[in-house]
Amino acid sequence: MPASSAPSVNKIEHPSVERALAEVRARVAAAVRSTGRGADSVTLVAVSKGHGIDAIAKAIAAGQRVFGENRVQEAIRKWPALKEQHPDVVLHLMGPLQTNKARDALALFDVIETVDRPKLAGILGEERRAGRAVRCFIEVNTGEEPQKAGVHPGAADDFIAACRTGGLPLEGLMCIPPHDEEPSLHFALLREIARRNSIEHLSMGMSSDFEIAIAFGATHVRVGTAIFGPRLG
Ligand SMILES: *Cc1c(COP(=O)(O)O)cnc(C)c1O
Repeated sequence: MPASSAPSVNKIEHPSVERALAEVRARVAAAVRSTGRGADSVTLVAVSKGHGIDAIAKAIAAGQRVFGENRVQEAIRKWPALKEQHPDVVLHLMGPLQTNKARDALALFDVIETVDRPKLAGILGEERRAGRAVRCFIEVNTGEEPQKAGVHPGAADDFIAACRTGGLPLEGLMCIPPHDEEPSLHFALLREIARRNSIEHLSMGMSSDFEIAIAFGATHVRVGTAIFGPRLG
């Protein structure tokens, strides 16, 4: 709707995407500095789910190149043209992936962060053997929440081994801690599973806790609201 006719009363104030992005970048950089790690050791993934192409274009114009979406269908509506205009954009899938959408997802997403079942790992492994670039993280359900996706911590080592046997290269692990729990315990658990399996990257930390995640070794933080404001849908 044109700005002139937009009702102002219901509008939620949020700084411009450019300003909010600059602020999040500064906070990420400060958190990385305080760990003593290199400035490039953490990748900011801007989570644009629930936001339109205009907001995404502003972030791209401000130099952001790594983005995340959590629904394949929504991403298919938003991203093909943007990716064509900006071939250096890297798009992460961070929502559940049905096996029958796996090939569609691979056509658009550069990184799948939500590998959590043998059947999905099998399809991705097949695509990889057929010569497609496949970059994967395994999602670990560190809180063992029944409604959440992800392999349980106790099953993670076996699943990681099976993925590797099936020829699926693994770049990292990902977790979404339970809302009502101290996230650091979950970040520490994810880090330990990665350590003992020699997995390099850790995708953990969102708007409310990315600085804590960085202190616990995150290499990828997934930040939506703090950059784009409240989601529309
Ligand atoms: C939406 C989402 C995020 C971003 O959450 P914010 O709280 O908006 O920063 C991160 N990770 C996943 C998996 C998500 O679905």
